[in-house]
Amino acid sequence: SEKQNVQMNDLIEEAITFVEREAGYNNITIARDYKEDLPTTMTDGSQLQQVFLNLLNNAVDAVGKGGRLEIRTTVDGEGRLVLEFADNGPGIKPENLKQIFDPFFTTKEPGKGTGLGLYITYDIVQKLGGTVKVENRKGGGAVFTIVLPVITLGS
Ligand code: ADP
Ligand code: MG
Repeated sequence: SEKQNVQMNDLIEEAITFVEREAGYNNITIARDYKEDLPTTMTDGSQLQQVFLNLLNNAVDAVGKGGRLEIRTTVDGEGRLVLEFADNGPGIKPENLKQIFDPFFTTKEPGKGTGLGLYITYDIVQKLGGTVKVENRKGGGAVFTIVLPVITLGS
């Protein structure tokens, strides 16, 4: 895949522009908490753009009118990038948690969802050396966490 030096804060911000209109129509707030000076990494930005769009579109669908998305970037103890996409929607039913990344798993009406978004997301992140997981939040809603390695040229 095409690797370039990517600043995740910028890449996420770019993905947000694609959902901002629909979010605006629905009075959805998109809060950002980007770590300043987040390290850049050599990775496939266009594939990650697809990942972020999948997560953002799902979150917009989940929260509905007046909902809230919270996007956070940080670095973990091992120096990896941590990207969190949280929302205050209904969250994921415990019985669905295990299937959520499976191909064709969807809870959307026929014609509204393919059930491929999270499957593709999982595949892309894994191929880029990262991990993705989902959890329900204590106050309600879901949070998807992506962890990616920081890869620098010449390392
Ligand atoms: P689709 O969006 O086409 O249904 P996805 O693979 O993107 O397919 O998502 C699969 C399913 O995971 C969704 O149908 C929904 O049930 C659940 N899901 C994904 N994101 C969220 C979220 N943020 N909150 C609640 N449920 C979610
Ligand atoms: Mg989807």
